[in-house]
Amino acid sequence: MSSVTVRVPAKVNVQLSVGPLREDGYHDLVNVFHAVSIFDEVVAKEAEGITVQVNGKWSDQVPIDDSNLAIRAARALAKHAGRSYGAELIIHKNIPVAGGMAGGSADAAGALVACNELWGLGLPMDDLMEIAGDLGSDVPFSLIGGTAVGTGRGEQLSELPTGGTFHWVFALANGGLSTAKVYAECDRLRAESNAEVPWPTLNDSLMEALGTGDAYALGAHLSNDLQPAALNLRPELGPTLDSGRQHGALGAIVSGSGPTCAFLAIDATHARDLAESLTATGAAHTAVAAHGPVQGATVI
Ligand code: ATP
Repeated sequence: MSSVTVRVPAKVNVQLSVGPLREDGYHDLVNVFHAVSIFDEVVAKEAEGITVQVNGKWSDQVPIDDSNLAIRAARALAKHAGRSYGAELIIHKNIPVAGGMAGGSADAAGALVACNELWGLGLPMDDLMEIAGDLGSDVPFSLIGGTAVGTGRGEQLSELPTGGTFHWVFALANGGLSTAKVYAECDRLRAESNAEVPWPTLNDSLMEALGTGDAYALGAHLSNDLQPAALNLRPELGPTLDSGRQHGALGAIVSGSGPTCAFLAIDATHARDLAESLTATGAAHTAVAAHGPVQGATVI
């Protein structure tokens, strides 16, 4: 095979509960990931050495040196296989960069699946999941997609059954937010308020809403402990969330560490209308309708 193309989705966190700061600097999380139909494509072609090019909307914001997560993934896979393989990776970027939608993790997962195929390694999913976990806590989820709960740093994953398709609108912001800065702001706000931070637990009502496919109940139970920090760093997101609610969103939330805002719609038609209203009123400069859950990194 001389070229392999993999499609890999973005995610939104329908629950993101952040526990107290641990001594190692991480937080224990309960992180319910949900894969949505905004996709990057990762193409791997036979080549000497491992290189990457990025094209599409956000390409100027993505590094093409060894810090690119797709390159790191390909190198980790070659190391695991114990040989020096080459691949030219081409990323078609649709997922916003530093948008809280795990775009870099998606590309890493895409590169793992594409190179596994290109190099004829035939490694099972369990091996790819292990390599993915070392690359970053969101990468294993990008491999499997669907809906899943992550615990620990978010990397210990269990798949969750969902009872239907949910329709979303994502309001994309100008410029990204650094995940590390949002966590630091969350810690700072918590220290300032002196409130005790509870141990994170899975919301049973949210589980039930996912299982029964009840969009109204899911909208009522969306939660994100990083939202106050993201709103402090980007106050203009508050009015964006309010505008979505005024236009009938069943739930409105910052996606992960932001600044993308996620709105749960009643159905596909409502999602299209909501996206139009958000842009027409200037509440968002770009709004994209999408659905979930969708499958993880897939060869196409
Ligand atoms: P998360 O939701 O997992 O916290 P994010 O969606 O906020 O992540 P990413 O788009 O994954 O953020 O990008 C974070 C940073 O990673 C970017 O600012 C960029 O410099 C770097 N990066 C490295 N490789 C990639 C890649 N392939 N695509 C996007 N960003 C990348």
